[in-house]
Amino acid sequence: EKFEDAGLHPVLLDNIQLARYAAPTVIQSYTIPAVVQGHDVVAVAQTGNTLHENTSSAELANSSSGSGKTAAYMIPIISKLMGKAKKLAAPRPNVAASNYDPKLHRARAEPLVVIVVPTRELAVQIFDEARRMCYRSMLRPCVVYGGLPMAITAGELEKGCDVLIATPGRLCDLMKKPHLLTMSRVKYTVIDEADEMLQADWEEELNEIMAGGDTNEDADHVYLMFSATFPKAARAMASQYMAEDHFRIR
Ligand code: AMP
Repeated sequence: EKFEDAGLHPVLLDNIQLARYAAPTVIQSYTIPAVVQGHDVVAVAQTGNTLHENTSSAELANSSSGSGKTAAYMIPIISKLMGKAKKLAAPRPNVAASNYDPKLHRARAEPLVVIVVPTRELAVQIFDEARRMCYRSMLRPCVVYGGLPMAITAGELEKGCDVLIATPGRLCDLMKKPHLLTMSRVKYTVIDEADEMLQADWEEELNEIMAGGDTNEDADHVYLMFSATFPKAARAMASQYMAEDHFRIR
């Protein structure tokens, strides 16, 4: 299996090389083609410590011991959007950084991708992966989470935002502030560590987030859900929002 054969955008292939990812991990080898083909994805897997099928235990001990789950959705989503980035990228201040005046040039966040995660630590990690994959594209990632002062959150969103990484409570707060955030352009919704969030009682917020976004009949809104376990509430969300032919990994 090779990244080069996955039908990815050439700029994204460069970014994968810069990240020094030599070959797709197991979960990436399933999710990348599925998302490239436009499928919704449910991945129910312990994503702790199987980077490559033939990774030796020594290699595992040296790696940061993840499955590469983040890149498994980031790579194909960003690749799909890159081809259309010029047309789709968020309205943003068209001024040199030195002339940027938030009062004059602010934009509202109109993300194309929303990634929801249970903790701020995870949100920040995912933001780093988003930055690596969005490099030299027109796409701008942003991260917001509970506990971050609203003024900082607003300032960040006002610079323009195509890929929004957020914790569920903060995202729902923002959905009630249409001058800061509109969900109407969201084409990809990723629910990461779904079981963790459901356990933490975010079910209502997650449903609001799933129901947000571009819901036009022909929008082809893509949903991805990652979860270590697949409890009833997660199954209910999947069957309500995801296409019947969604790709399932377990
Ligand atoms: P994650 O499981 O998403 O937390 O990723 C764990 C670590 O693996 C991160 O440091 C990633 O940068 C790295 N990673 C992701 N995909 C690959 C890959 N295909 N090859 C090598 N490392 C990777």
